[in-house]
Amino acid sequence: MNLNFDKNSKQEFLPYGMHYISEQDIKEVNKVLKGSRLTQGQKIIEFENAISREVGSKFSVAVNSATSALHLACLALGVTKNDIVWTSPISFVASSNCALYCNAWIDFVDINPNTGLIDIQKLKNKLLQAQKNNSLPKVLIPVHLAGSSCEMKEINELSKKYNFSVIEDASHAIGGKYQDSLVGSCKYSEITVFSFHPVKIITSGEGGVATTNSKLFADKMMNLRSHGIEKDPEKFVEPLIGGWQYEQQNLGFNYRITDIQAALGLSQLKRLEEIVKERNRQLVFYYEILSDLPLTFLEIPPDVYSSVHLAVIRLNRLNEKYYLKVFEGLRSEEIGVQLHYKPIYKHPYYKKFNFDKKNFTGSEIYASSAISIPLFPGLTIDQQIRVKNALKLFI
Ligand SMILES: *Cc1c(COP(=O)(O)O)cnc(C)c1O
Repeated sequence: MNLNFDKNSKQEFLPYGMHYISEQDIKEVNKVLKGSRLTQGQKIIEFENAISREVGSKFSVAVNSATSALHLACLALGVTKNDIVWTSPISFVASSNCALYCNAWIDFVDINPNTGLIDIQKLKNKLLQAQKNNSLPKVLIPVHLAGSSCEMKEINELSKKYNFSVIEDASHAIGGKYQDSLVGSCKYSEITVFSFHPVKIITSGEGGVATTNSKLFADKMMNLRSHGIEKDPEKFVEPLIGGWQYEQQNLGFNYRITDIQAALGLSQLKRLEEIVKERNRQLVFYYEILSDLPLTFLEIPPDVYSSVHLAVIRLNRLNEKYYLKVFEGLRSEEIGVQLHYKPIYKHPYYKKFNFDKKNFTGSEIYASSAISIPLFPGLTIDQQIRVKNALKLFI
């Protein structure tokens, strides 16, 4: 694969992540292109069934992005005006935007900077405080950063104690495990969301899916992904006139995925285990070759099998100038490093909510020390060594 995006640069650019498309993937997509259904066809159902089998959920609802899936998940759980939703500040903005789409209030739970995951002790303290203030959340959206599951057993226990629902934002974590359960099985949550954007573990171009064990939630999400339209005459609220009839019963959206995308996703899903193994292998190789540099890696909890969406290093010195020197230095060497993520409350749009960074010390420490370095199927040993040599220049 040619990674040289910039024809003027002497070295090939290494992005932090990218897709890997096989010949078989192309064949599967071509089959759909030559068939009679480009959208709303059988491939989507096949893809959904395959996801459910793979992650051990009863239902899967495939949509055009994880962002759409998060929105539908919130709606299925009844999130509405003035409800409160909590998520992690160290995530992609979609994790919290979904609450704002529903006119709910958003708040954040701080993370443990060593794992990047929601800090359970801080979650407990925040829940106690919220109970006193009568401001408990309706939904919590834990984010499985870099492919590592959050501590779902503890989160599940707290959800029962304080009566909130849980949506797992597992955009990074398909193919991962938590204790003896697969991420997506919804053993400890109402709904789990995966993303199939090209930088994620597997891709459908754009795309996402929500998994659940509740028929009610699955039906609601299926209805809302296609305008709130009902096509089953048995579920019509008005008398049937002709076989062509359909009813719009709710205000939904066009969040549909196409059969073209589903075919790509399905073909990639067949290699999931292999892809996740390769991602883990590359991470372990980084552990070896970077072991003598003054940096640590994002920790993976012992009861988690990570799908390793990201390889995140953490600088030992907390100093903004030093961070920028390393970051910009790597970029100048055509290493496409990135920060996953700038705390959501720091984005200009979020300033109006007046979040106080003093409440998010873990997130602040994380964001001033974490750098994602290249990791994706197809990255070679030589390229990983190039990353190491570039790191040595600036660390
Ligand atoms: C990528 C991502 C999303 C959004 O996924 P899309 O499919 O691009 O909409 C949401 N949450 C997290 C944590 C992500 O990384």
